[in-house]
Amino acid sequence: MHDVLPGQTPLWQYAEQMIRETLGAYGYSEIRLPLVEKTELFKRSIGEVTDIVEKEMYTFDDRNGDSLTLRPEGTAGCLRACLEHGLLHGQVLRLWYYGPMYRHERPQKGRYRQFFQLGVETYGMAGPDIDAELILIMDRLWRKLGIRDKVRLQLNSLGTIAERLIYRESLVSYFQEHLEELDEDSLRRLETNPLRILDTKNPAMQQLVANAPELMAYLGEESLEHFRTLTATLEDLGISYEINSRLVRGLDYYSKTVFEWVTDELGSQGTVCAGGRYDGLIEQLGGRANYAVGFAMGIERLLALIETLGNAPVTRTVDVYMIRVGEKAEQEGLRFAEVIRNEAPGLKLQVNCGGGSFKSQFKKADKSGAEYAVILGDDEVSRGEVGVKSLRHQQEQQTLTRQQTIAFLQGLFTSRPE
Ligand code: ATP
Ligand code: MG
Repeated sequence: MHDVLPGQTPLWQYAEQMIRETLGAYGYSEIRLPLVEKTELFKRSIGEVTDIVEKEMYTFDDRNGDSLTLRPEGTAGCLRACLEHGLLHGQVLRLWYYGPMYRHERPQKGRYRQFFQLGVETYGMAGPDIDAELILIMDRLWRKLGIRDKVRLQLNSLGTIAERLIYRESLVSYFQEHLEELDEDSLRRLETNPLRILDTKNPAMQQLVANAPELMAYLGEESLEHFRTLTATLEDLGISYEINSRLVRGLDYYSKTVFEWVTDELGSQGTVCAGGRYDGLIEQLGGRANYAVGFAMGIERLLALIETLGNAPVTRTVDVYMIRVGEKAEQEGLRFAEVIRNEAPGLKLQVNCGGGSFKSQFKKADKSGAEYAVILGDDEVSRGEVGVKSLRHQQEQQTLTRQQTIAFLQGLFTSRPE
């Protein structure tokens, strides 16, 4: 579990801001959910024989003896909340949530035990127009962040549960003919969740998997039509995609459309965003049959991708640093700083605290990253004046009245979009 230190938070805030703006542009609402849910919820929704439930959950008994789990993903909790509060009755919902998820995985670059996800979930729409809308949202976000050419969209259809069952049989018999080529994990999955074998990351098994029967050939007309309409819509919108018939996703609840946005820039942790349709889950969790489609984006991987651009936007924490030397200046300075903050909303003003000479305060001003220093000594105070000096450009220190200082700072810093 990693800390996000002050040097990194501007990048996080920038990405979070872009995410909010993008979702806002499509009329999505935020939902805030607990970090802890009953263990049973994840077992029922994600599926007993998935990596997450089998070996990745942080599960504990609380004081009542109830088994609780730190959420490994957000879809289950989001749906639980919507069912519990009756939000799904005859309604169409477009929701998003953002926050930490917990999985006990082997930590490595791009893989953590606490990681952040943006989750987007929609309910009540049969698609495929809503499937396409989700893809548009992601596409817009990549563009906004300047990383559109670093990610590729992969698409597949998992069909219906019934179609998948028939496919599963032929997949099992194919792998049974090649038992000696299966690794230990895959042998286990052959019994429990054979589709997951297609998802193997073992290079020795790639050939075997490549020759396996393809799910697309087992889809019924309705599933195929859904998929064809989606791909035609994407083509019409100019969004390119690759069909990846091995894309099965780790969770049991998907049906029809599944997709991933992948990148080659982050080594083996190449999936930045993944999702799909999961119509069956609502009924499975005790609701009335309904439609659902969503996605989850890994924020650490997203940020790593932004950082590969090498020009991640830097947000200043401090625009202006106030230097106060002398007893009167210290008192007046605090008051004047409040006036500046009233008059120049958006301006980030840090006041020197803890005293010090002009020289040492200038050093701190420089270190703060501020663009300008506002200087108050007792002389300035008694004359009602203020010194203003650029910390980044060779410029003479100016002497201004307080009103002029305020006007100067307003002009410099309050026009920026934030
Ligand atoms: P992977 O195949 O990489 O394990 P997953 O299929 O388990 O991914 P999902 O459950 O679909 O991933 O989660 C969606 C996204 O969340 C992933 O695409 C990834 O960006 C991010 N993610 C998943 N697990 C982690 C983790 N342990 N650390 C950081 N990000 C993660
Ligand atoms: Mg995983």
